[in-house]
Amino acid sequence: MTFHVVGAGLAGLAGALMLARAGHRVTLYEATPAPGGRARALPDGTDNGTHALLGANRVALRFLSAVGARDAWIEPEPDGLPVLDLADHSARQVALSPMGWLRSARRPAGLTLGALFAVARLALPGADRTVAAALAAHPAMLRSLVEPLTVAALNTPATEASSRLLGHVLRRLAAPGAARLFVAARGLGPDMVAPAVATLGCHGATLRTGLRLRGLMRQGDRVAALDFGEQSVELDSAEYVLLAVPPWEAARLLPDLAVPELHAPILNLHFAHATEGPVRFIGLLGGLAQWVLVRPGGVSVTVSAADDAVTLSEEAATVRIWPEVREAALRFRLAGEWPVAPPRARAVRERRATPRHTLLPRPRPPRQPLVNLALAGDWTLPDLPATIEAAIRSGEAAAAALLSAPLPKEAA
Ligand SMILES: Cc1cc2nc3c(=O)[nH]c(=O)nc-3n(C[C@H](O)[C@H](O)[C@H](O)COP(=O)(O)OP(=O)(O)OC[C@H]3O[C@@H](n4cnc5c(N)ncnc54)[C@H](O)[C@@H]3O)c2cc1C
Repeated sequence: MTFHVVGAGLAGLAGALMLARAGHRVTLYEATPAPGGRARALPDGTDNGTHALLGANRVALRFLSAVGARDAWIEPEPDGLPVLDLADHSARQVALSPMGWLRSARRPAGLTLGALFAVARLALPGADRTVAAALAAHPAMLRSLVEPLTVAALNTPATEASSRLLGHVLRRLAAPGAARLFVAARGLGPDMVAPAVATLGCHGATLRTGLRLRGLMRQGDRVAALDFGEQSVELDSAEYVLLAVPPWEAARLLPDLAVPELHAPILNLHFAHATEGPVRFIGLLGGLAQWVLVRPGGVSVTVSAADDAVTLSEEAATVRIWPEVREAALRFRLAGEWPVAPPRARAVRERRATPRHTLLPRPRPPRQPLVNLALAGDWTLPDLPATIEAAIRSGEAAAAALLSAPLPKEAA
């Protein structure tokens, strides 16, 4: 059978890999000049933004193994995340897993028995409310751990974010090893996207970049042709489409589809500051910067749920964020020089980084809205936060749906 995978983000790459490994002919079409989507390397090799994976992201880690890139994802802080509170300048190392809190030196600030019960209650299935409301009685715990986790995992402010969805994340973090945090040692390009594309090539799949699907020509409940503008691809009865594009594109191509419409931005600031030390990952509280990733090639800062920060100019963001980074670097004795003057910085604003994970019910798109078309994308699994894990799961689920679709009579 022949499969046309549209969109070379992680959902498309994962779906294409499953189909190609099953021995089918696969062509992957990508609108932009390079694959990777919202987890991509920019033309100069910089990541669009820092991406972290947790041990709980089993499908994503398995995908990395399948493309030979698992060892490229390293655990920068195996002994607990260094966290600096810029409000009172206190520093601590915090375990992400409740098991880690058995060691008093790895507890987040504000951890009392009552706060622990409140977090445990959050992890149990129950009525949905905002995370801020669920932790209202424990503001210190909210500020030191639950809010940063909410913003990182759901890319939504705690005052809006769904406690039910965060509960899902918390339940998954409780398993042994689930709270281990991994980052790409060099970057998303060499450590994820390029190995995925190379593996696809080994299985005979073809990647065509710079081709934007403009329209789906339908015949009843089937796709009859893919319209790429200057060229179109006619589909015979043994050809299938895996549509792995963001929600707004899916809604344009399939106007009856209900998709998430509210999105949240992420501001990424990349400092051209080379260091010699090991890769480090630091959390910041009470400032603008939330996470700092220090790699030999540069220092990257993430501001998630960045509704306000994303409006700052590059210069204003640099001037505000560099002193925060520098204080953390000095406090945790990171190797190298950390000058007062900010190094050259580049801002990457992802305005629609993920859907907002609020209390509003998220649309549940059908996996296979047309007989020969299945949908993938991080937004198609509304019970999970929109992350790499959801993207890869959705790509594999869409591929599995197409593989189990009954063969048309002519092709059987
Ligand atoms: C800055 C940032 C930081 C993040 N941090 C994390 C993190 O730490 N951990 C984590 O797990 N997740 C993180 N995420 C989320 C993660 O990147 C996404 O969930 C995931 O990459 C989505 O993959 P996808 O394939 O579903 O969608 P996309 O990556 O959006 O892929 C869709 C692809 O389709 C292409 N396309 C669109 N329209 C067309 C068309 N008409 N024809 C052809 N191609 C088309 C697009 O160009 C794109 O390449 C982050 C996201 C951002 C933006």
